[in-house]
Amino acid sequence: MRNKIVAGNWKMNKTYKETKVLVKDLMKQVKGVKLTDTRVIIAPPFTNLQKASKMTKDCKIEVAAQNMHQAESGAYTGEISADMLKSIHVETVILGHSERREYFGETNELLAKKVDTALAHGMEVIYCFGEVLEDRKSGNHFKVVEEQIKKGLFHLTSDDWKNVILAYEPVWAIGTGETASPEQAQEMHAFVRELVAQRYISDVAEQVSILYGGSVKPGNAKEIFSKEDVDGGLIGGLMILQRSLKRYK
Ligand code: PEP
Repeated sequence: MRNKIVAGNWKMNKTYKETKVLVKDLMKQVKGVKLTDTRVIIAPPFTNLQKASKMTKDCKIEVAAQNMHQAESGAYTGEISADMLKSIHVETVILGHSERREYFGETNELLAKKVDTALAHGMEVIYCFGEVLEDRKSGNHFKVVEEQIKKGLFHLTSDDWKNVILAYEPVWAIGTGETASPEQAQEMHAFVRELVAQRYISDVAEQVSILYGGSVKPGNAKEIFSKEDVDGGLIGGLMILQRSLKRYK
């Protein structure tokens, strides 16, 4: 059975002090939730990862990074390596978020390298993909998503996929308040699962969790998450993450 996952991308929000408060609150909430098959992952900024990781050591919350460099080490000012993350017990990394693609020029080819480095270090990858509004309007969305998945991930072995989580995030729905309908999310998730099934054996496609991200809120979380091929959500709004967790109570 696939894991259900609720993941929170904190983006560039929260100071060290604020992180302690928020993590404490989330830990309290998670305590009261039945989470047998559900994973809760938070991705605070780099400066707060170690604290969050220490605080959540004995609870259901896992900590992920929002990005990582593809090189092992070296002259890459301002960057963070897989080894650095692992040294503070961060075992999961979000790669290919649309904000990284758009503002930092991250391409599918670069992301393939980042994915390789993360997996080579035994890390788990949350690989984000999704179309912009023009692609959706012109009916190009399946083609764009197919390319993001193929170029970023289809060089992997079946075994590598045990450490891959997918996150479909239509760019037009991120932080805009506009959400893909549950049907639109299901349609894309089923399309992606079929793509994976065609490239690999169907077991790989069946076991990979595909999250939806894009203005998930308490009012729509339940309906979206209940779709057959939607295995949870990647949520950017922090208050919304707190309130969506309550949906699992
Ligand atoms: C995100 O940034 O991954 C995201 C889904 O943001 P939001 O929930 O704010 O749309």
